[in-house]
Amino acid sequence: MSNESIYQGSCFCGEVQFEVAGQPAAMGYCHCASCRHWSAGPVNAFTLWKPQALTVTHGAASIGTYNKTPGSCRKWCRQCGGHLFTDHPQWSLVDVYAAVIPDFPYKPGVHVHYQETRMRVADGLPKMKDLPAEMGGSGNLVAQ
Ligand SMILES: [Zn+2]
Ligand SMILES: [Zn+2]
Repeated sequence: MSNESIYQGSCFCGEVQFEVAGQPAAMGYCHCASCRHWSAGPVNAFTLWKPQALTVTHGAASIGTYNKTPGSCRKWCRQCGGHLFTDHPQWSLVDVYAAVIPDFPYKPGVHVHYQETRMRVADGLPKMKDLPAEMGGSGNLVAQ
């Protein structure tokens, strides 16, 4: 038996259902142009998990994948078009969008790719110019 917390998630229509277990490695907001263009939203709220923390429990065959770049395999539901995850194989992490796990206690810690922002946020959290150094970025912060 495990006493890890388990959180339920689904796509917009409910065809794809999944759960995440435990705690994510990181949480925050991505302001990159790719997230903005793909999501058609100004910013992406991310939660990054080890792949084994994520279990698709229904509708796996309905999950579509698109790779514009090798580092981001963006996934959505073929039935409703609702976005689900982005696999980041180079980091062995999967972004489960905070919006698709509504009961998860999302606590953002950082903004990334803030040099590309179209929506400035005065929340006092650190604003990374691109990514942390350990994820291949400059590690530099930008002004709020
Ligand atoms: Zn769906
Ligand atoms: Zn992004």
